[in-house]
Amino acid sequence: MKEFDGKVIRVDGNRVVLDQTAFNPRGGGLVSDLGRLGDSNLTEVIKENEEVIHLVNDAAPFRLGESVHGVLDWNRRYRIMKMHTTAHILSAIVNRETGALITGNQISPEESRVDFSREAFDRDKLTDYIKMANKVVSRGVPVTTYFMNREKALATPGLVKLANAMPPAVTELRIVQIGDVDTQADGGVHVANTKEIGEIQVRRTENKGKSNRRLYFTLR
Ligand SMILES: [Zn+2]
Repeated sequence: MKEFDGKVIRVDGNRVVLDQTAFNPRGGGLVSDLGRLGDSNLTEVIKENEEVIHLVNDAAPFRLGESVHGVLDWNRRYRIMKMHTTAHILSAIVNRETGALITGNQISPEESRVDFSREAFDRDKLTDYIKMANKVVSRGVPVTTYFMNREKALATPGLVKLANAMPPAVTELRIVQIGDVDTQADGGVHVANTKEIGEIQVRRTENKGKSNRRLYFTLR
């Protein structure tokens, strides 16, 4: 969804809360969406206590109960969707091939990174993993989402990677499945088909601590 209408339910300084929104807030390693809300520009979108807060450059025009039109910066959002889906693919392949776990990630429109718990990355092996990832991209694997009961999801090995980050009040978990490549509980934004990603390119790798390897990538 690139545009939507929402009703203003709170204005506090430069913070605006709507009854519904299509803007994805910062979180889970993803930078926030940007765009326009009414005649104001968004400086960031954040989430506090399960509430999405739109930070605007000018809150003066917003009136309680009035409807406003939101327009996403779609180029930015679409890059984030592609980058984030790529992180899933890379993580699944590296995990499958080496057993390494993902210890962090940062998804931005221009360049993203994933951290793996691994003492060393063989350069040839890394090239293989990227080839495998790009094969998933060109294979055109569908990305689907569905909801699953919390207990069932927690009982499925490997499905919930951040169990502690989920408030107990959440009884239904959103599951994101990239065909036969990766399945996990996830609230982020993804493309509908891996073909949309284009081509994955690794920029560089870094050592971050004894057993932490950071991999920077971009898309062409
Ligand atoms: Zn995801």
